[in-house]
Amino acid sequence: DKFEKGIDIKIDTTIISQNNMTFIAGPCSVEDKIIMDEIAHFLKEQNVFFIRGGAYKPRTSPYSFQGYGVKGLEIIREVANKYKLKVVTEANSEKNLEMVKKYSDIIQIGSRNSQNFELLKQVAKTDKPILLKRGFMNNLEEFIYSAEYIAKENNKNIILCERGIRTFENSTRNTLDISSIPILKRRTILPIISDPSHAAGRRDIIEELTYASIAAGANGIMLEIHPKPEIAISDSNQTIDFRTFERIYKNSQALFKII
Ligand code: PEP
Ligand code: MN
Repeated sequence: DKFEKGIDIKIDTTIISQNNMTFIAGPCSVEDKIIMDEIAHFLKEQNVFFIRGGAYKPRTSPYSFQGYGVKGLEIIREVANKYKLKVVTEANSEKNLEMVKKYSDIIQIGSRNSQNFELLKQVAKTDKPILLKRGFMNNLEEFIYSAEYIAKENNKNIILCERGIRTFENSTRNTLDISSIPILKRRTILPIISDPSHAAGRRDIIEELTYASIAAGANGIMLEIHPKPEIAISDSNQTIDFRTFERIYKNSQALFKII
């Protein structure tokens, strides 16, 4: 492995590292400005520092909503600035990388691009912290190699994200691979965050999967939230409301302290 010592990813006053636990929350896709303002305001009240939302969406179906593009980047940046939050948003192609770089604080590389090696090399060169999601068909060795594509370009600010893998089980959209968390923590010096939303694909088990991730040693949790989950533009089924988020967030902080 190319990683010799613990990496502290400093973003303003926050550090994402193997010794910390950070929450990232927001809608699947960047929504309109009124809804984004409501979400950002809520996160600020909760003391959550990172807002997420995709402007370029890598959708399985070409007929699904593909994201607001630059307009979406403008909206998420504007509400983040208003409430002093940091932006996590995805670049899904070398074509939108420069734009995403301009408007974001952390660049997300999605599951479907986890082995897009040219994109990995290019995103590394932006010098932004990178949230690298595990390819849903990748084993941990392959996932670590993807991270090393970035590290090799001299960008060590990499956050690994477990978001579930494809298995024969079909009661969830993907299977959250809990073991990946302690294993990645042993094999790398990078922070590991868990994304129960995309693993589950259903909102009723997000709470339990979050606590399981923290118990397994996750350094962060990314959740899809919306003031009215049933009208979210995308991934509505796995999106939780503010009240649920509040409870999960509070319990998570208590749990992190005792483990
Ligand atoms: C997302 O985080 O919005 C997303 C598309 O996730 P994934 O790449 O894990 O499917
Ligand atoms: Mn989503």
